[in-house]
Amino acid sequence: MAIAVARRAFSVWSVTPLSERIGHVRAFKAALEADTELLARTIAEETGKPLWEGRQEVASMLGKVEISITAKIERAGEREQGMPFGRAILRHRPHGVMAVLGPFNFPGHLPNGHIVPALLAGNSVVFKPSEETPLVGEMMARCWAKAGLPPGVFTLVQGGRDTGAALVSGNIDGLLFTGSAGAGAHFRRLFVDRPDVILALELGGNNPLIAWDGDPDAVASVVIQSAFVTAGQRCSCARRLIVPDGAEGDQMVAAVAAMADRLIIGQWDDIPEPFHGPLISAATAASVRTAVAARIAGGARVIRPFESIAGRSEAFVTPAIIDVTGVTVPDEEIFAPVLQVTRAAGFDAAIAAANATAYGLAAGLISSDEGLWRRYADRARAGVVNWNRPTTGAAGTMPFGGLGASGNHRPSAYYAADYCAYPAASFEAEKVNDLSSDIKGLRSISGTMSDA
Ligand code: NAD
Repeated sequence: MAIAVARRAFSVWSVTPLSERIGHVRAFKAALEADTELLARTIAEETGKPLWEGRQEVASMLGKVEISITAKIERAGEREQGMPFGRAILRHRPHGVMAVLGPFNFPGHLPNGHIVPALLAGNSVVFKPSEETPLVGEMMARCWAKAGLPPGVFTLVQGGRDTGAALVSGNIDGLLFTGSAGAGAHFRRLFVDRPDVILALELGGNNPLIAWDGDPDAVASVVIQSAFVTAGQRCSCARRLIVPDGAEGDQMVAAVAAMADRLIIGQWDDIPEPFHGPLISAATAASVRTAVAARIAGGARVIRPFESIAGRSEAFVTPAIIDVTGVTVPDEEIFAPVLQVTRAAGFDAAIAAANATAYGLAAGLISSDEGLWRRYADRARAGVVNWNRPTTGAAGTMPFGGLGASGNHRPSAYYAADYCAYPAASFEAEKVNDLSSDIKGLRSISGTMSDA
């Protein structure tokens, strides 16, 4: 039903001039701006993130609008070139009905990063937010309603995986998905015989951060921001810390553990403001506990335990650090504040350890040696590779996406314009010209060959 309505709306929206579509998207931004504080609180309440993070998320949503307009024009606009017969024109055309499935961890910003470019390109959108964050989805839909979109151009559907499954099995032209690698792999298989459906998969990672040299406290601050922000529930969080084997590595790991002791963990509206809140659910905390216990049983050494917090629900957990040097651990994303340390004998071994993953989303190096950075930047297998900055540092003005199990080479953020439209090349002449003199092997009316 939602798809049929969206398809009817597409026939009108796809031929609405871009300037008008931009007007609606800017009206959405104005509606969002008017609801900033309420939306920030709703994000914080539904996800458990601190209010400061909810506010940052709304700011990213607002920023996305102008970034997407620029990206649409720069990456998926029109280009004309003079030709002897007239002109060649590059245009970008929308795909049709886009299904957008959102994750819980950035319930506004990440689906918004698909929806805004998809609508600007002239697609209609059916959006299913995460079942953990239905209210944020509801608020976004209200803002789109205030933007005066023609009916059916944007439709919200609510529900869990079953609803998502029903949506993607319908007559859609694209699936713009941000979520787990497992679900992404499922969609790859599901659409293998539907090449007509564009798939953009923004998935998780098992992200490495090499900390090679530097003041231990400064190093620790970058590691903490990389591994533990949002209780480790960012796709770009560092999951693996690779340090030099020996005293320098020991000092860095000790500094990270000492700084982790100072982090305030609390509810979204606690005063003083917490650094991070709970995991999304007590069930998630239980499954993370099992994953950590399996590593310890396999020989991992506990540097800082993964524990629940007295007086809080089971979803509140402490940041954990375990040393997995020499231990075989599964190559999987633990979507929680759990950092696995590996000690490397040399920088080449550190790079090899960093790249020893099927994923390729984010990676980083902490070092003052530019030569090491160049070596790493040339060899790192990831879509975001940072130097002396947290792995969680990203910008809407840059592409954001991963290799291998982290995606399907359709990065989002600034590059979202690319998967929201397809390029069409046209060779145009304003009137029909007689091309018979160009036709080789054409007999003239008198019977001689045209090229004789
Ligand atoms: P998830 O995969 O469990 O769910 C995401 C969305 O897809 C939800 O709306 C869910 O209902 C739906 N869904 C899940 N499985 C489905 C199926 N089989 N059929 C139909 N619909 C289905 O992800 P999550 O737990 O909400 O989010 C966390 C994950 O997202 C982490 O793995 C994280 O790394 C990843 N993530 C990636 C990025 C990125 O940009 N690369 C950003 C944020 C989060």
